[in-house]
Amino acid sequence: MSAPPPDAHATPTPELLQALKDAVGEKGWSDDPRDMAPHLVDQRGLYHGATALMLRPATVEEVADCVRLCAEARVPIVPQGGNTGLVGGAVPFEHGGEILLCLSRMNRIRELDAVNHTMTAEAGCILETVQTAARDAERYFPLSLGAQGSCQIGGNMATNAGGCAVLRYGHMRELVLGIEAVLPDGRIYKGLKSLRKDNSGYDLNQLLIGSEGTLGIITAGVLKLFPPPVERHTAFAGVASPQAALDLFSRARETLGDAVTAFELMPRIALDFVLAHIPGTRDPLAAPQPFYVLCEATATRRDSALADALHALLETAMDDGLVGDATVAAGETQASALWKLRESVPEAQKHEGGSIKHDISVPIAALPAFMDRACERVTALIPGVRVVAFGHVGDGNIHFNLSQPKDAEREAFLARWDEASRMVHDTVVEMNGSISAEHGIGRLKREELVRLADPLELEQMRAIKRALDPHNIMNPGKLVLPG
Ligand code: FAD
Ligand code: ZN
Repeated sequence: MSAPPPDAHATPTPELLQALKDAVGEKGWSDDPRDMAPHLVDQRGLYHGATALMLRPATVEEVADCVRLCAEARVPIVPQGGNTGLVGGAVPFEHGGEILLCLSRMNRIRELDAVNHTMTAEAGCILETVQTAARDAERYFPLSLGAQGSCQIGGNMATNAGGCAVLRYGHMRELVLGIEAVLPDGRIYKGLKSLRKDNSGYDLNQLLIGSEGTLGIITAGVLKLFPPPVERHTAFAGVASPQAALDLFSRARETLGDAVTAFELMPRIALDFVLAHIPGTRDPLAAPQPFYVLCEATATRRDSALADALHALLETAMDDGLVGDATVAAGETQASALWKLRESVPEAQKHEGGSIKHDISVPIAALPAFMDRACERVTALIPGVRVVAFGHVGDGNIHFNLSQPKDAEREAFLARWDEASRMVHDTVVEMNGSISAEHGIGRLKREELVRLADPLELEQMRAIKRALDPHNIMNPGKLVLPG
């Protein structure tokens, strides 16, 4: 599919461009190709876009003025946060007729209410800045993910980001209490409530979370904070299969309760890639194991006896033959080294040639069957393909990535992306799963959404889009295509 229908939109005129520049002032825009270049290509280099103007408004009023001007002129806008998204949602189309609006100058923490355990942060705050501000106030903001040094909290809201502690704290839908946003006609939605209970009708905040910039521009949010963890115990265990990992997961939850904060899975091939390509890494176990689990348990009060419980869990599991070997980090340095093994998998995979990536979820109990079925099918399709399936097994979310067969032609392998993806996604749907567990739909999966979503659900999504954005100017051609 190409870009959205050009006749529905106007091309930006010199008058509109001038009015937009006036609305944001000198510091608030650029049309210098060198400034704009990093904003016109996505994280994975799959999409290269164009624009006549990049806006960087500093206040919600400036955002509203920009959107109103574009709405009146019927010129589309693409909101952009840290541009770390993995589905091409934040990059304008190649035709260049869209205005790019970056939130980076809206980066103030407006309020931190320690008693209410909330923080009101503007959309352009970097995730790491939000985490630090919470820590400085002896509070904890639990969203944590590989891109946290550059992604923005607005982008996290817009994509309903999850990360490594979803198991315990939930994803952004569960971490946001209120939102301020500019709607597609330029009006400001003032939903910055910090209430934990509010049953007064449809929830606009939840509509905006995960809407990938297609229903409005999020300018601020009220975030939930928690008591900081004071104990963290990280274990790395070898298991024979995904089923064994799930059995260990069940036992961990039975014995450690909601102290289990993360439960990640990676296969041996992923560890081999990391050890081969990431400097400073080493195998923490004596002998190779077919799969590995990284389990983290945290406590918010000291002397919780959590360390003993974790050791006991692993010892029993080893006695029962469920775990082949295991180690528990002796301190923060060792814990970071274990996390590095898991978090470096995508980087290590780059060194092994082309990869075709999937971000899927299925009900947790169905994961082993999914892995078997999907592996069998992709191997039949592309003999020699190397399946690197790793991820947040505690959330039923696997990054079912395929590395090209050794010595294969990279481009020839990547040319099979759609064919392989359809096969994997069909398997996901057979198991009542999702084709996008955490990265969103964006541009990459919009056709797959049309192909696989329940027609009624798709119809309702399109109705919501038309109701909020009747002229289809807010990030058109992303997430939900007009019917
Ligand atoms: P962008 O990439 O700039 O934008 C993403 C989408 O949101 C686009 O459609 C854009 O138009 C829209 N958007 C951005 N800001 C706004 C706004 N203020 N208002 C309205 N729309 C907006 N995700 C997980 O869930 N779990 C993970 O473990 C995880 N790990 C990751 C690791 C790495 C190394 C990377 C690169 C990404 C990872 N992600 C993960 C994806 C991550 O959630 C997103 O990249 C991030 O949340 C997007 O934030 P951003 O500010 O970069 O948004
Ligand atoms: Zn992930």
